[in-house]
Amino acid sequence: MAKRKGIVAIVGRPNTGKSSLFNRIIREKKSIVEDKNGVTRDRIYGNAEWLTRQFIVIDTGGITLQDEPFAKEIKAQAEIAMQEADEIIFLLDYKQGITPDDEAVARLLYKSDKPVVLAVNKYDRQDPNASPYEYMSLGFGEPVMISSTHGIGVGDLLDKVIHEMPPIEEDADENNTRVAIIGKPNVGKSSLVNSILGEDRMIVSDIAGTTRDSVDTKIKRDGKDYTLIDTAGLRKKGKIYENVEKYSYLRTVSAVNSADVVVLVLDMTKKITDQDTNIGGIAFEERKPIIIVGNKWDLVPDKEKAIGEKTEEIRAYFKYLQYAQILFTSAHDKTRVYKLFDDIDNIKAALNRKIKTSVLNEVLNRAQLLNPAPKHNGGRLKIYYASQVQAYLPTFVFFVNNPDYVHFSYKRYLENQIRQQFGFEGVPMNLIFRERK
Ligand code: GDP
Repeated sequence: MAKRKGIVAIVGRPNTGKSSLFNRIIREKKSIVEDKNGVTRDRIYGNAEWLTRQFIVIDTGGITLQDEPFAKEIKAQAEIAMQEADEIIFLLDYKQGITPDDEAVARLLYKSDKPVVLAVNKYDRQDPNASPYEYMSLGFGEPVMISSTHGIGVGDLLDKVIHEMPPIEEDADENNTRVAIIGKPNVGKSSLVNSILGEDRMIVSDIAGTTRDSVDTKIKRDGKDYTLIDTAGLRKKGKIYENVEKYSYLRTVSAVNSADVVVLVLDMTKKITDQDTNIGGIAFEERKPIIIVGNKWDLVPDKEKAIGEKTEEIRAYFKYLQYAQILFTSAHDKTRVYKLFDDIDNIKAALNRKIKTSVLNEVLNRAQLLNPAPKHNGGRLKIYYASQVQAYLPTFVFFVNNPDYVHFSYKRYLENQIRQQFGFEGVPMNLIFRERK
């Protein structure tokens, strides 16, 4: 079972420094920070790790509503945070103190059943007159005083965040496979789910009604259990904020986060766009096994020829997902919809596969004979032996003369050899190189 990571959302009125804090936590400078209202943000979710705990951070300031008054926007941000996150960081600005807008945000957060950690930002230097206690009037306990830009107090804040993180509920059933069906609107996600549900061998056992995954569909097929996480269903159920693109993006993040296998659906009658590759990027960042489904295949002319062309196109656009499996389907006439489940089962089996060290090394020896390592960083890689170690994703440790000699393209070659020889298609793998003394 894949482990779901906790989700932490940063909430606060504009210009309190949400984006700076977000960047500080994910330790990347990818979103654009400007010291004025109405900042453009291109990135609103990222992965973080603190005290060996991994979690996802959301910058709700990046969720914007067009042509809506500010009060509505902040309400949307707080509501999305309360719905999607496991825990909330409520951010204030030390230089402004508590403003009526902060109080408005606080009133929204009172409704939350998630832990709220209060942080006061822009506390750039020790101030003898500072009184953290005045912030306690907001009702969220003692705040952590921080400076996102200087990095002060952020460690204390994260300590508290980890400490107050509620236990992450998980699907404990080892025999159930959670499948997230993702893709931009109108590629055919719902149609695909419907055609799956309409399949003869499928028993729809339950439409689950938990708060988080209100559109999870549990199904049984050939005696095996699956949960379909249908991100389109949410939109169709007429949920709030359905038109906010960033919001459906976050829904996708949370669906992928809780999935064992991701199915990325593309429309084969259209060109692949940035929106497709951005959505695929989530599966890559979360390191999930993935099947890329080229849907609406019934509408594609000259199918024999198209298979090669479309495969090439997908590979070119999704370079980072080189391990992805590709399948062409038609939700309309159910072409290869059954095959999707075979592929999902194969991925599930691959995750549990243990390769014998002797067989692994035979394959690697052959791979090296066929294609010897190039010289790199002043030397040539020599692999003494490799073995698979216990981990959720297939993980191989290579004992070598010098890890610096590993060229990334040679690493990819070895990975592909293992993938093809041992049937790890669709699954991300870890190759670790260690020097043998
Ligand atoms: P979603 O937004 O990704 O859930 O997409 P929908 O399932 O709502 O499909 C969008 C449109 O594409 C609808 O008009 C569907 O009937 C159509 N569609 C979906 N899959 C197929 C397919 O395999 N073949 C054809 N011809 N049309 C499809």
